[in-house]
Amino acid sequence: MPFAALGLNRDLQYALEKQFYTNPYPIQEKAIPPILNGKDVLGIAQTGSGKTASYVLPTLQLLQSKPVAKNRYVNTLVLVPTRELAIQVQKVYKAFSDRLEQGIKSLAVFGGVSINPQMMDMNGVEILVATPGRLLELVEKKAVFLTNVDVLVLDEADKMLNLGFKEEMSNIFKLLPKKRQNLLFSATLSADLSAIQSLVLQNPVTIEIEAETQNLDLIAQLAYAVQDDRKGPLLRYLISTLEMKQVLVFTSSVHRADTVTDKLNQNGFKAIAMHSKKSQGAREDALRKFKNGDVQVLVATDLMSRGIDIPFLPFVVNYELPRSPKDYIHRIGRTGRAENAGTAISLVNADESHHFGIIQKKMKRSVALIDSEAINLKGF
Ligand code: AMP
Repeated sequence: MPFAALGLNRDLQYALEKQFYTNPYPIQEKAIPPILNGKDVLGIAQTGSGKTASYVLPTLQLLQSKPVAKNRYVNTLVLVPTRELAIQVQKVYKAFSDRLEQGIKSLAVFGGVSINPQMMDMNGVEILVATPGRLLELVEKKAVFLTNVDVLVLDEADKMLNLGFKEEMSNIFKLLPKKRQNLLFSATLSADLSAIQSLVLQNPVTIEIEAETQNLDLIAQLAYAVQDDRKGPLLRYLISTLEMKQVLVFTSSVHRADTVTDKLNQNGFKAIAMHSKKSQGAREDALRKFKNGDVQVLVATDLMSRGIDIPFLPFVVNYELPRSPKDYIHRIGRTGRAENAGTAISLVNADESHHFGIIQKKMKRSVALIDSEAINLKGF
């Protein structure tokens, strides 16, 4: 689906092209239309999902049709937990608004630096991206007024609560007009967050983006064209040459998981299999050993992948491709988490290559197929 189908105007479509955003990410597909319709939105999504543009684009478009308010009466207020996020979000606003005919000024403000330059920069600002504490200081100094805020965005709301901004947030809410649009983004849901949600949101459209579809950009994807009988040696070659200290290998059957594991062990790698034919105790034991580094390779079937949650898993290998593209994304999503880069490698035989094309189409990413013929696998 192109951005145009989401209701974004020509100016923004042009700006999107210039930023090389060709297709909307899932969160954008789901969030942009209701935001343009004036609805409140609750988005459960992490950094990396494209959540920033999902509210930046429609809030810019909404602002384009509004008359310019009095100086220092901001229209769109984005609250964020950190200086880094404030800067990052404002950059996205700037990148898209710079290309609009009618100039829209945005500004990032945050604590830990002198307040004076921020007070001066506030002239003509319509979109303010702020951390809660500094915003209240600026309000106190009458550098900014919040009584004209039409749109409130809470970005990484869970992190704001974790950092102890609850009271500041409540104080800010009291300064806002009652009638306004509210957009709340958070990576997780919690009891504290529900309290904020019910305080802020009115009949929101709820959008949840599955974690595994989020961080594709953090995952380096590689694929090797390889004959079946060379898959085992190629796997061992890659583990050695890429110095994989911890790697999760997926197979499509229990039997294959066992044979791949046996071969790895015979060749001096510490590997363990985890699949449905193992007892619950044995599975937990395997996962524990893998997590604490006692075994280097965990060989698992798809059924098992949902329970595998390892914060910094650097490598995932698809010994065989899964049937559904969703499972592929789910598998490779075991790596590239929590903002750490990861590598996903697929071993693709001739029968699987057409299917691999379908997977790439579905995930809107292309992965070059490296010919492994010339790799000398002797000794692996
Ligand atoms: P975010 O989750 O908002 O931090 O965005 C993650 C990254 O994805 C940023 O580097 C964006 O520039 C990029 N991005 C967001 N949406 C798109 C899109 N539709 N096409 C290409 N890149 C995008």
